Amino acid sequence: MSWEDPSSEIDGLAPTLVEIRRDIHKHPELGFEEIRTQRLIGGWLSKLGYQPQESARTGLIADLHPERHGQAGVRTVALRADIDCLPMPEHTDLPWRSVHDGRAHKCGHDGHTAILLGTAAILAHYRDRVAGNVRLLFQPAEEGVEGGGAKVMVAEGALEGVSEVYGLHNWPGYAKGQLRVTAGPIMAQVHNFEISVRGKGGHGSQPQSCRDPIVAGAALVTALQSVVSRGLSASGGAVVSVCTFEAGTTSNVIPDVARLTGTIRSYSEEVTTRVLSRFREVTAGIGATYGVEVDLALEAGYPVLVNDADCVAAVERVGRQVGMELSREGLPMAGGEDFAYFAKALPSAYFFLGAGLEGEDTPGCHHPDFDFDDGLIPVGMQMFLGLVRERLSA
Ligand SMILES: [Zn+2]
Ligand SMILES: [Zn+2]
Repeated sequence: MSWEDPSSEIDGLAPTLVEIRRDIHKHPELGFEEIRTQRLIGGWLSKLGYQPQESARTGLIADLHPERHGQAGVRTVALRADIDCLPMPEHTDLPWRSVHDGRAHKCGHDGHTAILLGTAAILAHYRDRVAGNVRLLFQPAEEGVEGGGAKVMVAEGALEGVSEVYGLHNWPGYAKGQLRVTAGPIMAQVHNFEISVRGKGGHGSQPQSCRDPIVAGAALVTALQSVVSRGLSASGGAVVSVCTFEAGTTSNVIPDVARLTGTIRSYSEEVTTRVLSRFREVTAGIGATYGVEVDLALEAGYPVLVNDADCVAAVERVGRQVGMELSREGLPMAGGEDFAYFAKALPSAYFFLGAGLEGEDTPGCHHPDFDFDDGLIPVGMQMFLGLVRERLSA
């Protein structure tokens, strides 16, 4: 039992944390509605001697050494956990399955929360060994398209006086025991789009009197695929996917309107700007070519998440110390993540803990069969505690 190797304390705490994780899982709450979860976290932290403060309405912030925070020469390392669930069904028969229809912890934020609660307990025990301050960020509303909880926390000043921020995510697509992280972009910038193609409908036998939105829409789908393949250099760096195409009601009527929706992912703001400008040109061009009205609506999601090289080096050192297998494979990933707002504000690192079991097709995040792997709770705690040791040694 020691600050240098808290494994036995972590193991001792694990059963309690598993119970808490499953309790949160059973009572999932959507973004900015995490009232019960906030109360649970607040109660745990207060019992440990922290003075948690409300942040972003349903989130919480707690400092290990509030009296030191903001003093000259004092470094504060922030650790973040997201706490919200997804608006989707739960398809498991687990005893801790969601009691709310259409709400479920299918991204493992219940597990991330338990990891940070456990970390808080060990830190409180060894508080005298920590130079500087540790700030715990329990962040609401990660799952959303715009204006996630991280953005609100940053706007409210949650990072004032903080030196760097770390965050993690479980990932069943990577083998258990793996730590995946990379410097630079690690998660994508997201834009969702909705396009309406308005032509002129009529009888299916009389195309000469119509402006067919289906033919124009089909041409648009193909043309949009050239935005990346012909609009960007060999290194690319963007994904364009048309994910819905709706038009028409029956086999002998040309409809008035076709509607398309989809998503754009990229790894730099420069590439995004280029893709969006090509998007506008292509949609306008198709409109002119087919004599239809094309309306393009773009919805900006989270910015690109860029990891700091120095922070990543620290994550990798700690990963090696705790016996993880390091990999950069598959990164950056085309998903979006609102930790990007923290990483935009301060040097930060966001990393993945593999959760895939060998020889099994482990359900991935956002799958109705997914459940957080409780075996990752000690691993996540080792990582967070190792980072505090690494960055704030007394
Ligand atoms: Zn998610
Ligand atoms: Zn998630």
